[in-house]
Amino acid sequence: MKTISLARYRVFEGSLILINASYSYHDTVKKILKPIDTDNKKLFLEKEAADAFLMLMSDIGGWKEIAAVSGWRSINEQHDIFSSSLIEKGLEFTQKYVAFPGYSEHQSGLAIDLGLRQSDIDYIRPSFTYSGICKAFKDKAAHYGFIERYPKGKEGITNIAWEPWHFRYVGCPHAEIITKLDLTFEEYHDFLKQYEYGRKSFKYANSEKLWSISYMKACAESFTNIEGDPGSTLYISGNNSDGFILTELKNK
Ligand SMILES: [Zn+2]
Repeated sequence: MKTISLARYRVFEGSLILINASYSYHDTVKKILKPIDTDNKKLFLEKEAADAFLMLMSDIGGWKEIAAVSGWRSINEQHDIFSSSLIEKGLEFTQKYVAFPGYSEHQSGLAIDLGLRQSDIDYIRPSFTYSGICKAFKDKAAHYGFIERYPKGKEGITNIAWEPWHFRYVGCPHAEIITKLDLTFEEYHDFLKQYEYGRKSFKYANSEKLWSISYMKACAESFTNIEGDPGSTLYISGNNSDGFILTELKNK
């Protein structure tokens, strides 16, 4: 058995952190940002998300028709977008489409807005449909670790309007599970809480691999110790509130 000790702040790190109006993004989280668009040197994603995005785009030959509109944003940029949207579009529109500064997934570098390449792209609501190249992107997204984060009909759960252009990197195999079970990211976190590490786990297999996924509450006062299974590879992400999601890759 190998013991892994996690400090409390680690709940705010990892590709599975839930960021919404209730859970702000902790800007102190260390991340490596990587440029994703040779035409726009200011577009970055967190490195793992960037690599997955670039692979997906190359798989579908996406760059000819798809433009990356917005990736990582600093908190200052989020402030600017929020206040200019307030002035130009008003409060109701802004509350529907723009996260309050500090609460945007874009600050993590794990979210990207995509639009069809056209002369005039709407920065807040780019056009991204469910046909053609957009469908090709959506069909492969889960395989590369991306989910459509704010789906139609789930506005009451996400508290964000339907945004067919906004994708969130959550990694594999989580994106596949979320897509297959038709859950929002909020619902997925609730779902995983019933699988407490060491007692119960959610098993998932695709044609290539087998995973065992569970949740572990973080120790409030000190380090959280996890006893890893030597027969599997363990990936750990915080949930951005009170614990960790443990993803064990088992030998199939
Ligand atoms: Zn977005």
